[in-house]
Amino acid sequence: MGGKKMSLTVKVLLGMVLGILVGLIINLLHLNAAGSFINEYIVNGLFHVTGKLFVNALKMLVVPLVVFSLICGVCGIGDIRLLGRVGGKSFILYLATTAIAIATAILIAVTFNIGSGMDIPTSSNFVVKEAPPLTQVLIDIIPTNPIKAMADGDMLPVIFFSILLGISMLMVGKKAESFIEGAEIANEIMMKMVTIIMTVAPYAVFALIAKAVATLGIEFLSSLAGYVAVLVGALMFHLFVTLMAILKLFSGLNPLTFLKKIRNVQVFAFSTSSSNATIPVTMRTVTQRFGVNNSVASFTVPFGATINMDGTAIMQGVATVFIANVYGIDLTIGQYLTIILFSVLASIGTAGVPGVGLIMLSMVFTQVGLPVEGIGLIMGVDRLMDMIRTAVNVSGDAVVSTIVAKSENKIDLATYNDPDAGIIDHSPVILNK
Ligand code: ASP
Repeated sequence: MGGKKMSLTVKVLLGMVLGILVGLIINLLHLNAAGSFINEYIVNGLFHVTGKLFVNALKMLVVPLVVFSLICGVCGIGDIRLLGRVGGKSFILYLATTAIAIATAILIAVTFNIGSGMDIPTSSNFVVKEAPPLTQVLIDIIPTNPIKAMADGDMLPVIFFSILLGISMLMVGKKAESFIEGAEIANEIMMKMVTIIMTVAPYAVFALIAKAVATLGIEFLSSLAGYVAVLVGALMFHLFVTLMAILKLFSGLNPLTFLKKIRNVQVFAFSTSSSNATIPVTMRTVTQRFGVNNSVASFTVPFGATINMDGTAIMQGVATVFIANVYGIDLTIGQYLTIILFSVLASIGTAGVPGVGLIMLSMVFTQVGLPVEGIGLIMGVDRLMDMIRTAVNVSGDAVVSTIVAKSENKIDLATYNDPDAGIIDHSPVILNK
């Protein structure tokens, strides 16, 4: 084959496409009947185990990667004011993009008037789980026990502790130098681990997607076709139009380059349905493919994975209009504004893990007095929608990271514009002697 190696991105995409195909074949031919060989040993055996192993490997990296890269980030910035600016800018941009996302979603859903005149039997098997109240979210930012926060993978307290640790190291000065150097080495080692784990990604992505598609099938989409079409349309609009316009407007960088390089991250988010589990990949792409300095990315990426959920907000906007219409409830402008406000607030307190969007939705519904059991209607398609919206969530994280880095002159434009920068070819792990 001309000697040219296939890049990892191409292989991962191939894994995804093959996964969809194999999953569809299994599902459409009913090869996954309960108790059958394929169901027991392939779908819930091989695919399940391979996929889970990979997701575990990614999750395994999150906490050490975030801790070490944040320490390095803070020490690398060396200027507390800059840190404050990066924090402030990213916070505002994350909230603003989420608010724009849900407002657009509501507009699109209202325009298409989805769900009206629909007669779906309502199942009320949705169990309400509460999103944490804002006061508790604020209190929990400071961990009473940092090791416990790390063990639980709670990002906001881990971020807080690591930043404080970095600041303290800087303040100790000369005596702490070897500690800082140690953190830098540890950070490099963690990044290497990400690269190692990514080399098996094509197979893992194949397994994850094949299992999801084999289990879900596609027939379930037809009953909710209107909801799905409008939701996917709104998600794509946000990704390709809104986010890219914001990127161009605030950073002047080429959106096409961005879209090309972010694909890998999107596939990981799509296969894992978790912004948090995708942190290692987002971090690697943002720093090594976009050229964003670690001092910015180490903060903005994990922060974004926790508080920024554009895709999830879009789902909430569309779902609210859809369910209000199905139940024949007219929402007022005031209620729409409440929905926007609450879904933005809810996104701050909930981590980017699979299925959390539904929890946030129940909070929003309670606020505006919509029947929470209505959520039961859209639950059937939510697994797939979760995959798509998570890909939009992580794209938003990367857009904001890039904009903030550009505004602080913390981005290497040569790397951003180089199509091959930071690419992983499929060569096996190379041991540096
Ligand atoms: N799975 C999403 C994420 O991790 C959150 C959600 O919408 O459920 O970003």
